[in-house]
This record gives sequence, structure tokens and C-alpha cells, in this order.
Amino acid sequence: MYNPKSMRAEEFICHEEIEDVLAYAKEHREDRALIEEILKKAEEMKGISYREAAVLLDCPIPEINERINLLAKRIKQEFYGNRIVMFAPLYLSNYCVNGCVYCPYHAKNGHISRKKLTQEEIRNEVIALQDMGHKRLAIESGEDPVNNPIEYILESIDTIYNVHHKNGDIRRVNVNIAATTVENYKKLKDAGIGTYILFQETYHKDSYEKLHPTGPKHDYAYHTEAMDRAMEGGIDDVGLGVLFGLETYRYEMVGLLMHAEHLEAVHGVGPHTISVPRIRHADDIDPAAFDNSIDDDTFAKLVAVIRIAVPYTGMIVSTRESKATRKRVLELGISQISGGSRTSVGGYVEEEPEEDNSAQFDVIDNRTLDEVVAWLMELGYIPSFCTACYRAGRTGDRFMSLLKNRQIINCCHPNALMTLQEYLMDYAGEKSRALGGPLIQKELERITNPAVKQKAKENIEAIKSGQRDFRF
Ligand code: SF4
Ligand code: SF4
Repeated sequence: MYNPKSMRAEEFICHEEIEDVLAYAKEHREDRALIEEILKKAEEMKGISYREAAVLLDCPIPEINERINLLAKRIKQEFYGNRIVMFAPLYLSNYCVNGCVYCPYHAKNGHISRKKLTQEEIRNEVIALQDMGHKRLAIESGEDPVNNPIEYILESIDTIYNVHHKNGDIRRVNVNIAATTVENYKKLKDAGIGTYILFQETYHKDSYEKLHPTGPKHDYAYHTEAMDRAMEGGIDDVGLGVLFGLETYRYEMVGLLMHAEHLEAVHGVGPHTISVPRIRHADDIDPAAFDNSIDDDTFAKLVAVIRIAVPYTGMIVSTRESKATRKRVLELGISQISGGSRTSVGGYVEEEPEEDNSAQFDVIDNRTLDEVVAWLMELGYIPSFCTACYRAGRTGDRFMSLLKNRQIINCCHPNALMTLQEYLMDYAGEKSRALGGPLIQKELERITNPAVKQKAKENIEAIKSGQRDFRF
């Protein structure tokens, strides 16, 4: 029985309810009267239900799909403007006891090289990332209580925050590690993490159990209920995601939106972010082995419908996607992207020889961070290295209320400009500097609040004369 307030995975992600929703969507996919009603509601920009989103996702009518795209673009513009927040993943260890059949780190993969960074190696990776200009990292690690216990993760976070190379510093560490206990989430909270990210992989329980045949991750309920434990442990900002390609995308989108509804119903705050990775080639993994892979058009539509369904949730796309796909989905709803990523353990200091292959997946967008930054500016976006909210205590419902009443723009916009100015001073190549200077001047004039505009201008000048780390 579906119950969004239940704390039991099988009740807040209810298989029968999802099946019912998918049948409903199929029946009504060309029901113009219903679709008009859903679009009218969506235009209020307060979100729509998973049932309504499923109908839009299934709708094959080209003219309606065009309107869905336009609305997604408007919502993106309204809540997130033209800023794109930058981050990079940092792989700490690929030791893993789980058996996930779609991931090269699975325990039985004997021909991948296993690596775990020492604290000294982490320091060097962080210096390499700081020298690129990154301020925000997502740390990644396999699940292995012997090799990667929580103490190792905590020590690594501490190391990362304490590296200050030249003008560099990592100001926000998001954490993507296996589902764990409330006590461990409390420890992560105390370590000062930003978002706790955990991909569900698939919401379909039977498929989940087959795709995770061995290891602690096999336990569907423990994995699915992890975000509730994280929130109980005091982590306000959690990031959801599925690995598209494992199950049917329609099922996964409904599952994702149900999960978001559950978090809102129980904790009063929905997910901070949703990631939309698609399965990719990697050592020992052939994406063709998974028959639910989705084409680029379907992927773009998914992004647009999620954007409409949960306007208050940031959306992330990684370097798993090509430059062309990233361009397309940036317009439709993506607010955060990675740049210059390496998906191997230790890959920032030294590109690893092919025979080692400790990467979790093949990167498709291989451009440097500076190339991505210049490209974003050419497309009319402001690359942002902002990390202000969690440092200012704007997390969870505090953050959401600022976002919902659209006040957050008074922070995001000037913060994007100030952090971009830092980037231009410290790390940018010639092209980015040439594009960035005029962009910042133009965007400063667009700040509507006179006091904020004045302060932002003063701060930009102070950054030019050597000061760093201003924020609203
Ligand atoms: Fe381990 Fe995560 Fe890969 Fe599964 S997906 S094998 S838990 S690293
Ligand atoms: Fe993100 Fe907050 Fe910075 Fe806006 S001000 S970009 S919401 S950290």
C-alpha cells in the first residue's frame, strides 16, 4: 500500500502504485484535456505529482512536447537563471565488497587494479584540483569496511578541507558513499559535508536484487531508506539519482519522484539535487548488456519533465555525457555539471596507464575545466564556483524557503560573479579571461537589488586586488 509518510521502503516506493501510474499514463498519453490541465498546473512552477509527470513523459504529441520543453526552460531560468555550478568527482578508493553487475569496481572483477589513496596522495589530488580552479568536490568510494571504513572517509574529508595551495581551497565536499548508519551520518555531518549523495541505481526491487546479487548493498530496504537515516543524522541536503539503463526509464522517473515526495512528506524538505547518469562502458561492463538504455531524445525529455515536476531540486549531469548532450540538457533544467573529471583513483595527479584501468566509467566529455568554463560563457551561461549556502548555514528547509520564494537569486547571482572573478584571476586561460571580464561587468548591471549590486561591485574590485572568498 503506497504511503509517502511510511518509513518502510516498500511502502513509500510502492511497486503496485508505480505499475498503476504507468498504466494510467499509457491510457492518457494523448488525452489533450488532461494534459492541458497538467500543463496549467505546471505553469504555476510549484511542481506536479509523479502521476502527472508520468503522463507528460509518455505523451507522444510533438506540439505538446515542444511546450514541455519551453516550460522546462522557463522554470530553469526562473529558479536558476543562467548560472551553472561547477564541481569535480574525487575517487578515493575502488575497493568494494559489493557485486553490482553494472560497475567495474564489483568485488569479483579480478583484472581491475585496486587502489586506495593515502592522505598524502589525497593532498596531491586536491592540489591538482585546486590548480584547475575547483572549489567543490564530490568524493566517491567503494564500500569496504576494512579498506574504506568511515574513519578513512572522515580523515580524507579533513585532509581535503585543510589543503590550501596558493589561492586554492575546497570549500564544499559532497559525499557519495554507501548507505550507512545514523551514527555514521552524524559523523559526516560533524565533518562539515555539503550534500550526501546516494544513487538508488534502480527503484525496481526485483531488478535491484538481481543487479546487486552479493554484498551489503543487496539489501533493497536498507539502501532505499538511507536518506531517512542521513536526515535523522542531521544531514539536511541529500542528492538522489538512478542509473538510467538498468530498468525502464518510466519506472525510474516515477520512483525518483515518489522518493522526493516521501522526503518532503516526512522531513519537510525534498532532495537537494537529482542526478541523471546513464550507464556507460567501463572495464568488464558492456552497456549493451542492459537493454533499457535510452536515446538522447528520451534523455532530454526526462530532464525536462523532472525539471517541471520538482522545480526546487537542482539537477546534475556529469562527464558521462557528450558536449552536445550537455548543451541540450543545460537548457532544459541542469544546474550543476562536472568539468575536467577523472574517474580513476589518483587520476588528477597522473593519468593512469591503460593497463591499470581503475576508472568507474569512461568519460565522454574529456575537455579541461577551463575549456568547459569558456564553452559555458560562449553559450551565455555564468560558470559558478559558489559554495556559499552550506557555509552560511543555508541548508535544508532554510535553503528551500529561500528558493521557493525566489530570494536565493540575490545570493546565487552575485556569488557566481565573484567566484568566477576569482577563477579568472587565479586559473583561467586567455580565452576564458577574455570572455569572463565583459560577462561579469554586464551581469553586475543586471543585479536588481541596489545594495547587493554595490557590495558585489566592491567585492569584485577587492578580488582583483588580491582578496578572496567573499559571499552573500
Ligand atoms: Fe561498489 Fe558502488 Fe561500484 Fe557497487 S556501484 S560495485 S557499491 S563502487
Ligand atoms: Fe548554490 Fe547557494 Fe551558491 Fe546559490 S548561493 S549557487 S544555491 S551554494
